[in-house]
Formats: sequence, structure tokens, C-alpha cells
Amino acid sequence: MRRLFYTAVLGGLFISGASAKTIYNGDKIDSVPVITKLDVNDLANGKTYRFMFKGADMNIGQSWYVPLIVVKGAHQGPKLLLNTGIHGDELNGSKAVQTIMSNLDPKQLSGTVVGVLQASPNSLSHITRVWHIANDGGYTEDMNRLFPGKENGNAAQVQAYKLFNNLYLGNADMAIDLHTQSTDTAYPLFIYADYRLPAIQHLAELIPAD
Ligand SMILES: [Zn+2]
Repeated sequence: MRRLFYTAVLGGLFISGASAKTIYNGDKIDSVPVITKLDVNDLANGKTYRFMFKGADMNIGQSWYVPLIVVKGAHQGPKLLLNTGIHGDELNGSKAVQTIMSNLDPKQLSGTVVGVLQASPNSLSHITRVWHIANDGGYTEDMNRLFPGKENGNAAQVQAYKLFNNLYLGNADMAIDLHTQSTDTAYPLFIYADYRLPAIQHLAELIPAD
């Protein structure tokens, strides 16, 4: 972990939706509740939550799940999204998010932090950059090119649609998407950031990029 992450994409986005609400489908995985939609506004203040977010379905009728950690601060403040694992062979972001979240005290926090661990579980299971599509003899998709996704597309497009509309939207005033080097690559630490937004520029320049 000489360099914990090599690429970060920072943006300010996602206007809060007034009618959204967290949807629990009644399932639990290892005692963690499954949700199909997250709205941090309806979570109690001053607590840390774990969820499994139900993503796209597989070709065998089961689903891909994305682990979440949400720290809802005791005090009002902005909403920060930390996303990892859009590329399934870029693992360091998950450890970074786990470490950050474990060091947050919800009683002290002003605002909300949503940690998304491995947003592309299909890619993680293959330890590859791409999502493996099961139909048409098999092909791959780069999840980082698919947002905001398609409601009725292939599994990768549906995963992107569900992540964008049911997890990110409304739950982030600012977002950091953590990447690292893909397999067999070597390049400097860099950041994409939306410099039209002063807060995002400030955040980006706090990160010691090359
Ligand atoms: Zn990446």
C-alpha cells in the first residue's frame, strides 16, 4: 500500500430527491439487511449502518450484492459518497474505505458518509477490470463507461442503473470514486476532478497526487 489509490474521480452531484426512501426487501445476508434503495435522510442520526445493496440479477436468477457502510452523523452537514470497485481488480480502495469508516465517530460527525465496497461484484469475482456478461456467448463491459446505465440493458448496464439511481442519487453532495492500477499497469497517481466546483478543487488538492 505504498500508494493506496492511484486514481480518484471527484465530483459534486446528485440533487436530493424528495420522495426517496430506503427500501428493505426483507432479506438478510449474514445478518446484514438487504436494501434495494438507499435514502440516508430516513436513517437515524448518530449511528453507523451496514447494508447489502441488491444489484443486477445474474443469468441463474440470483443477484449481485454490494456491501455498504453508512455513517450518519449526529449533526447536520454535507453528504459524502466514497465509491470503490468499479474495476474489480482494483482492491486498495476497499481497504481505504473500510479504514476511513472505522475511524469515523457518528456521535462527532457533521454530515453523512456512504462507503460503497466493490460496486462491481461480478468483476471482483473474476479479479478483472471488466464485468463478464453471460449472454451472447459471453463478452465484457467496462463499468466505468456505462453510467448512468440502462434500466433494461445487459447486467452491467442494469448494475450501473441501479447504483446510480437507487444508491448514489440523493445520497451525495460530493463523491470520490477510488481506483488504483489495473492488472499489469504502472502509472502515476492522478485525479479527475470537477474544478468548476471550489469545494471539489479543494478536496482534490488535499490528495497528494503526482
Ligand atoms: Zn479503475
